[in-house]
Amino acid sequence: MQTRSEAGLKDLTGILLGSRQGKNLQRIAVLRWGHRPQRDARLTSHVALAARAFGASIFILSDIEDQKIKETVEKVSKSWGGNFKFEMGILWKKAVRDWKTQGGIVVHLTAYGENIESSNVLKRIKDSEKDVMIIIGSQKVPNEFYFPETSDFNVAIGNQPHSECASLAVFLDRFLNGKELAAEFENSKIRIIPQKNGKKIEET
Ligand code: SAM
Repeated sequence: MQTRSEAGLKDLTGILLGSRQGKNLQRIAVLRWGHRPQRDARLTSHVALAARAFGASIFILSDIEDQKIKETVEKVSKSWGGNFKFEMGILWKKAVRDWKTQGGIVVHLTAYGENIESSNVLKRIKDSEKDVMIIIGSQKVPNEFYFPETSDFNVAIGNQPHSECASLAVFLDRFLNGKELAAEFENSKIRIIPQKNGKKIEET
């Protein structure tokens, strides 16, 4: 585990090339800020796996590296397929800047934002037709996350405090209209054949 200085940063341009999951789709990246290796290891893994399962194509663990989580997520992707990319150690400011330079917008999930149900914020995000970077926190996030220079939209999944994993899942499900739940992941080595009772898997 180590933090990175700006000098060692990769540009997101290379990372993003080829990661769109189909023509005319808004590409989705998830940036996880504030990961505390001892305390958040399990939750950050869950957030990354939820991002993958629910339609994001890139996960960025910003400002810090955690090799164990990267390995866990990449192991799942190798077995269960898809083109999910896991990046870490990129400073959040640089990740946001690169994303915006490439024409993407940033959506910060926060209990203080515009309510996803009672406002038209989701429609405005969809209507933008731009690639979306979703920022989720863990501990209290820097105030800059709320500013328009960082976040084009501050979105609340209800205005009660709960969890980054829950808010990410609900946002992605609404953003993709539930279609992600029936998605096939290409090049999978293992696949579940849904059953009314019992468990059935197919391995190749
Ligand atoms: N205590 C922190 C604070 O005051 O900012 C928030 C901690 S919360 C467990 C961690 C993350 O979950 C937040 O940064 C936010 O991304 C997400 N989150 C929690 N409740 C949310 C809500 N109602 N809507 C959207 N995101 C939420």
